[in-house]
Amino acid sequence: MKTKILSGREVSKFYKNKIRENILDLKKKGIIPGLAVVLVGDDPASKIYVNSKSRTCSKLGIFSKTLPYPNKITQVELITVIEKLNKDKQINGILVQMPLPLHIDEFEIINRILPEKDVDGFHPENLGKLVIGKESFVSCTPAGILAILKYYNISVEGKHVVIIGRSNIVGKPLLNLLYQKNDFGNATVTICHSKTKNLSKITSQADILIVAAGNPNMITVDMIKEGSVIIDVGINRIKDKSTKKGYRIVGDVDFEGVKNKVSAITPVPGGVGPMTITMLMQNTLEATLRTI
Ligand code: NAD
Repeated sequence: MKTKILSGREVSKFYKNKIRENILDLKKKGIIPGLAVVLVGDDPASKIYVNSKSRTCSKLGIFSKTLPYPNKITQVELITVIEKLNKDKQINGILVQMPLPLHIDEFEIINRILPEKDVDGFHPENLGKLVIGKESFVSCTPAGILAILKYYNISVEGKHVVIIGRSNIVGKPLLNLLYQKNDFGNATVTICHSKTKNLSKITSQADILIVAAGNPNMITVDMIKEGSVIIDVGINRIKDKSTKKGYRIVGDVDFEGVKNKVSAITPVPGGVGPMTITMLMQNTLEATLRTI
């Protein structure tokens, strides 16, 4: 069987070109989309993500500003920052880089972002709208997964989709997107997690298997159905002395082991990863268009 490699890089390029064109049109009308990224503390991974977001903004013509704060910022001070950004006319999207220090209640912070500027799709109003099938900002990784499936004409209708992982940023929004009665929905969805029994019995029934567990190579060839589609969300760093950095990035799926049994699969890196930032750009554009 010829396996299709679902390239997130290719899909990302396609979306970015469309976003860039839309932004050029807006600029002709004197409108420039703006994204504010709030970064608390000095976590190296968070800094890398934030830098990469601001680089992508500048490539696409989005105005962006990063607001760095020390780890000791209080919850009240951070809420003041959010409220100021809510009122800022130059800013269409607000993103607070997670995780936040333990003394800050993440839910309380997200709750203070205006839902119409919540380009991460984490605000309870946006999540609630998603559940009842109303238009809302959808969190970027699930939106990116849908964009990949659409780009490669992989319909989910009537299929059994199995998701591994029930996080608020991946598993739960995905579940709510895929079973909806709409143009790109109507799947039968099973969600699995760390307490699921007989995991392989469930995964081997999946027409489409989406894995977001953060567990390197946990999905092996014996756990999947012949001809299925595999979406690997996992990003795991594993030691590898043969590389310059001393590590390499792998997904949650044993790519080499499964690739000849499946009809399509996303690689790691280069699969879901590049889509997340692209969908953030798409949401920022969307947020801007909604203000016109
Ligand atoms: P999380 O830790 O919040 O959730 C992991 C989920 O997987 C949990 O619900 C847990 O119950 C489940 N799980 C863990 N081990 C399991 C097992 N052995 N069997 C069944 N279920 C198991 O993680 P998250 O934030 O959703 O991220 C998951 C993975 O996706 C991580 O590797 C993360 O780096 C990656 N991720 C990638 C992107 C991207 O842009 N590609 C975005 C977000 C997350």
